[in-house]
Amino acid sequence: TSTTPPDAALRARAQAVIPGGLWGHLNAAKLPEGYPQYFTSAEGCRLRDANGREYIDFMCSWGPVVLGHRHPVVEAAARRQADQGDCMNGPAPVLVELAELLVDTIPHADWALLAKNGTDATTACVTIARAETGRRKVLVARGSYHGAVPWCSPSLAGVTAEDRAHLLTYDYNDIASLEAAADQAKGDLAAVIVTAFRHDFGRHQEMPTAEFARHLRALCDATGAALIIDDVRAGFRIDLGGSWEPLGIRPDLSAFSKAIANGHPLAAVTGRERFRQAATQVYTTGSFWCGAVPMAAAVATINELRRIDGPARMRAMGERLRNGLDALSRQYGLPIRQTGPAQMPLMIFDNDPDWRMGDTFCATALRHGAYFHPRHNMFLSCAHAEADIDQALEAAEAGFRAVAGR
Ligand code: PMP
Repeated sequence: TSTTPPDAALRARAQAVIPGGLWGHLNAAKLPEGYPQYFTSAEGCRLRDANGREYIDFMCSWGPVVLGHRHPVVEAAARRQADQGDCMNGPAPVLVELAELLVDTIPHADWALLAKNGTDATTACVTIARAETGRRKVLVARGSYHGAVPWCSPSLAGVTAEDRAHLLTYDYNDIASLEAAADQAKGDLAAVIVTAFRHDFGRHQEMPTAEFARHLRALCDATGAALIIDDVRAGFRIDLGGSWEPLGIRPDLSAFSKAIANGHPLAAVTGRERFRQAATQVYTTGSFWCGAVPMAAAVATINELRRIDGPARMRAMGERLRNGLDALSRQYGLPIRQTGPAQMPLMIFDNDPDWRMGDTFCATALRHGAYFHPRHNMFLSCAHAEADIDQALEAAEAGFRAVAGR
């Protein structure tokens, strides 16, 4: 029998049959030393890796898990639907229930259509905006992530210039750059797409300023372009009505996914009346897009988030974590900056250009049972309770101690 730990053995086998061992953002090779690749089970705010180690989870599957892993209410709804049918020749009645729930929950939404991934939803928003306006140019913030297809992928491998021929860039929260890009588009501006807040990889997060959000809305109103909010990452964590509701700014189209069904595969596009006809004409579909189980999970997830005021709960626990990390940072004399909404935190050490402090912190906290991320925003779920945060702060203290060399 081999003495290789299961995670290492699986990684070695994967190298032979999966390009790079794993595609995409969940490849653990991009994480500090010691992070596991494979997980065998999860419940609430805890997950267990293939080597049998348990962690308090602060990535929540990078967003989807909003009520906690394997939430009993959601899983019961999914099982009930699975016992009836999932992938059939058309949707189950739960589709209509879910679309009504989305329209009821999200103030700008006059209609909703469903898909599988966030990329499906952002791409559909752009296509619907072009179909409605008959124009081509789309303004995208430099560094914002909108998905994994040629028009928006962060990798240029296999991407042609033509795939991006009609994109113009602006800087998040920078009105002058937005105006300059809009001028360049002249009469051909179809849409401006913007993430709920600035959560670009590997930099401090930034909330949208009220001025920027208002200006963006006014620009779209003046030009007839669609304001698209990419709420894939932040949706259902900041405000159940859409992440710019607290700012009083409503988009024309929104893309949702991740947290919409607590881990079941689903995405949604919501839109205003003006875009209904274009949404009817654009060809959006996929073999699994009418699957009923994720829709039943979404209905249960959104109802539960509404019932318990999920965003407020996650914010409170996020603030407890943030305050605890701030206190530890002062105690160990290691200045940090924490940015973004408390329920989607990011902590970066000052004077850490090569990420060595952040990596040491995270690798050590991991060994002590807390799964943090040094460079990408993290995610709270409604399953994080005070005792979990306090336990995670003990792991964080070990991390600070290691960075301080004590
Ligand atoms: N937009 C944003 C803001 C995202 O964070 C993501 C996923 N990380 C996407 C779009 C794409 O979603 P998906 O990976 O489900 O296609």
